[in-house]
Amino acid sequence: MHELSITTKLLNSALSTLEQNHGSRIFSINLEIGAMNDCEDKWLFKYWDQLTEGTAAKGAALNITHKPFVFKCKNCGFEFEFDPKTTVNCFCTMCQSSELTMISGRQFDITSMEIE
Ligand SMILES: [Zn+2]
Repeated sequence: MHELSITTKLLNSALSTLEQNHGSRIFSINLEIGAMNDCEDKWLFKYWDQLTEGTAAKGAALNITHKPFVFKCKNCGFEFEFDPKTTVNCFCTMCQSSELTMISGRQFDITSMEIE
């Protein structure tokens, strides 16, 4: 399952950050997930509960912020958000060009953590 590997990666990354900071426990994690990752919170929370059992992250709260796709138009330079749920074709909303660069949407970042 897609969410399981994402959650495993998240936990490993959180635990190594904890170690680097010589902490012993994680209380909460603030997370930014780009639309590209296409993951559902309920699965993340479910796997998080299972995987953190017996680790320093047990009981830690996950605060997830979902980040939309952001594209930049190669033609006119306009930047805009894109929601694949409501829009099928992706064109620049200014000039209708389809020559676009994705500048946001792939991220899966821990922005901050509360540890002890
Ligand atoms: Zn454009």
